[in-house]
Amino acid sequence: GFNKKGNGELTKMEHAHKIPKIKFTQLFIDGHFVDSVRGRTFETVDPRTGEVIAWIAEGDKEDVDLAVKAARRAFDDGPWPRMSGYERSRVMMRFADLIVENAEELAGLDSLDAGKLFSWGKAVDMPNAAAMVRYYAGAADKIHGEVLKMSGALQGITLREPIGVVGIIVPWNFPTGIFFTKVAPALAAGCTMVVKPAEQTPLSALFYANLAKQAGIPDGVINVVTGFGPTAGAAVSHHMDIDMVNFTGSTEVGRQIMQAAAVSNLKTVSLELGGKSPLLIFNDADIDKAADLALLGVLFNKGEVCTASSRVYVQEGIYEEFKKKLVEKTKVWLVGDPFDPSTNQGPQVDKNQFEKILSYIEQGKVEGAKLLVGGNPMGREGYYIPPTIFIDVKDNMRIAREEIFGPVMSLMKFKTVEEGIKRANDTRYGLAAGIVTKDLNLANTVSRSIRAGIIWINCNLALDRDCPFGGYKMSGFGRDMGMEGLHKYLQVKSVVTPIYNSPWL
Ligand code: NAD
Repeated sequence: GFNKKGNGELTKMEHAHKIPKIKFTQLFIDGHFVDSVRGRTFETVDPRTGEVIAWIAEGDKEDVDLAVKAARRAFDDGPWPRMSGYERSRVMMRFADLIVENAEELAGLDSLDAGKLFSWGKAVDMPNAAAMVRYYAGAADKIHGEVLKMSGALQGITLREPIGVVGIIVPWNFPTGIFFTKVAPALAAGCTMVVKPAEQTPLSALFYANLAKQAGIPDGVINVVTGFGPTAGAAVSHHMDIDMVNFTGSTEVGRQIMQAAAVSNLKTVSLELGGKSPLLIFNDADIDKAADLALLGVLFNKGEVCTASSRVYVQEGIYEEFKKKLVEKTKVWLVGDPFDPSTNQGPQVDKNQFEKILSYIEQGKVEGAKLLVGGNPMGREGYYIPPTIFIDVKDNMRIAREEIFGPVMSLMKFKTVEEGIKRANDTRYGLAAGIVTKDLNLANTVSRSIRAGIIWINCNLALDRDCPFGGYKMSGFGRDMGMEGLHKYLQVKSVVTPIYNSPWL
């Protein structure tokens, strides 16, 4: 829903009662909060103001080593992989209940740390995180292999065993959502793990570590090492005792993670990377609805979404009318304090991201694109950028090719279906795509012609725990969520025995 009160000003209210006290700032290793070995800390800021809100323990290689030792012990000798799936499921259900009980405080932490909307966090993000844990808890006692009658009078049994110690490296745009898409299935599989949250948003991950302990997850199963990518993150990806790394982040860092795996122990790698997703709107579309979908696609979570539909292609018959609709709708879109319930869009996560987006906007202007709306930062402090839409965009401009990760849309026009498909596919990425049309056959044809991991027909950014999600091309490989998201943490072992009158007997 779009707010009808927009007047071009930032929303601002005092919501002090919603702002949580920060309780956990240390590393969580082997069931305990501890300082980093070197005793260093780093700051995390409130993107509403740029002020420091907490000093967080800065983990490095030594700390990752300790966390991996704990995870290794918990995997090799501890109860978690050995207990029944049903017992793991019971503990996970308690963990899920604790997320719900603490939803308000947790939503507050993500708003304070990442500028996410508080009301959305409390009503959607936290209940979804709990539902994610329950979904995989429900699968924990349904993991099984097969019995095979092999040639040569042999019987084969396949077992699905947990892959071992998992390294989980996550970005800052969904500090809760992405944490649980990885942690929940890894828990259900019986794995143990070392989680490296993004340095911009470490607060909620540390809170989840505390809840996991309260729920009865044994020490060493979940370890959280906060710190920077090239130090703590690289120590995870290079570690000889980590069996798999599941990473979400940029394509550039994804490449480094794969290299690290190759030069260390050939650990399994799963990569969820960047995108530059197209949204194709056809002549027969409901223009009002299509405009809502297009704006949602690039404004949700202030455009800090890997599947953001930042390239919008509108068929020429409705282009002019569509353009007018977009302008109308952005006028009533409220940017401001994420704790204010009337706000539609909060601040960008930090100064770096804010400046990166503004430099892309400059680049767009320099390359000859025109601003339809937005383009200038808002407010005297904090990292606010209004909805920004470029027209007269050429496919080869940087704003049409590179991931901006902000509320910036490139609006383009196309003539034929073939042209739309060709241009949608003209990218090194392949994370997601959207199609808006009433024609079912057209939608089905186009959805099969676009090389991307998820296609939304007449909806946008519709992701849920029960649907696999991941990239084609340079958006990565491996799938999180759904049962695929569980199977990646399991490996198949075959056990073979002779039967009947086998020559082996
Ligand atoms: P990033 O790649 O810079 O950082 C992601 C994580 O990797 C952080 O925890 C960071 O500390 C760590 N890291 C950085 N350098 C590292 C290194 N050398 N070795 C190991 N770890 C390292 O990405 P970001 O800026 O935090 O997030 C934005 C990017 O994430 C965008 O490209 C976006 O598309 C992508 N993303 C993808 C998905 C998806 O599911 N495909 C979801 C959200 C975000």
